[in-house]
Amino acid sequence: MSAVLPSSASLYDRVRRVIPPIEWSVFVEDIDAILNLKRQRNAVILAHNYQTPEIFHCVADIVGDSLALAREAMTVDADVIVIAGVHFMAETAKLLNPDKTVLIPDLDAGCSLADSITAEDVRLMRQRYPSVPVVTYVNTSAAVKAESDICCTSGNALAVVKSLRVPRVIMLPDEYLAKNIAAQTKVEIIAWNGRCEVHERFTAADIRELREAHPGISVLAHPECPPEVVAEADFAGSTAAMSDYVARHRPARVVLMTECSMSDNVAVEHPEVDFVRPCNLCPHMKRITLANIRTALEENRHVVTIDPHVAERARWAVERMLFV
Ligand code: SF4
Repeated sequence: MSAVLPSSASLYDRVRRVIPPIEWSVFVEDIDAILNLKRQRNAVILAHNYQTPEIFHCVADIVGDSLALAREAMTVDADVIVIAGVHFMAETAKLLNPDKTVLIPDLDAGCSLADSITAEDVRLMRQRYPSVPVVTYVNTSAAVKAESDICCTSGNALAVVKSLRVPRVIMLPDEYLAKNIAAQTKVEIIAWNGRCEVHERFTAADIRELREAHPGISVLAHPECPPEVVAEADFAGSTAAMSDYVARHRPARVVLMTECSMSDNVAVEHPEVDFVRPCNLCPHMKRITLANIRTALEENRHVVTIDPHVAERARWAVERMLFV
């Protein structure tokens, strides 16, 4: 424990249940450097729920799911916003707060959903289904958002679809999110074939095995999981909704069918809950590290830019979502 410097000791108290001392000793220097750099550069770090605990609990200023980060990005007053998340999240922050310097620590932090569709694909869908509105998940590029009528997140997708008051919508690009939303509404939903490479791996058989191994366990699933997984879960919702569920119900034992780090981050807040962790890592989220956050602040990289013509139309689709 000698590696825990005085300035970091209180932070370690917070995460000691999920970070062993040997790992912490590797993190301490970067954490102290990042805390100093944030002050020097008047910077804030927005971290997604899938970031590792040393980022989520020790250097982030604002944490949450995509919807929460988008809302917070709009009102950030600092000069610099560092996104501890993936590239589409950094683009969304830039769309909503265009005068700020937005940094993404690794340009290759992508997303299988964002990669599954292009702006040209959306234009072709519009030709195929004329006058059917396009609802686009925020897990897409700014160019795809620019071709859309409105965006959504997993937290507000049903409300967004209902808000349009139409019998049919195109919902892009996550096939499973579209099917899971279709199960909750009479609105006909035309889906694309994108998948989240993390959530598509969970199966209904996984849930049955978990229930057999841990009788009484509460199973919470993300709506990017296949519909048969959502059907067998006790609750389905965004990462923020899962976190709220654990806080409200305080189950004795729970499994979150989502990215690995989510369980660690929620476990820090709920030492009384036993988290069973079938681990599916997002390789894109894991490209963000303390080391590259530090470098991003030291060297002002990688600055996120968006073509102004694309940005104007994409911003409209994102802002429209925020007012649903
Ligand atoms: S968890 Fe899935 S949806 Fe989220 S960034 Fe990774 S690949 Fe994309």
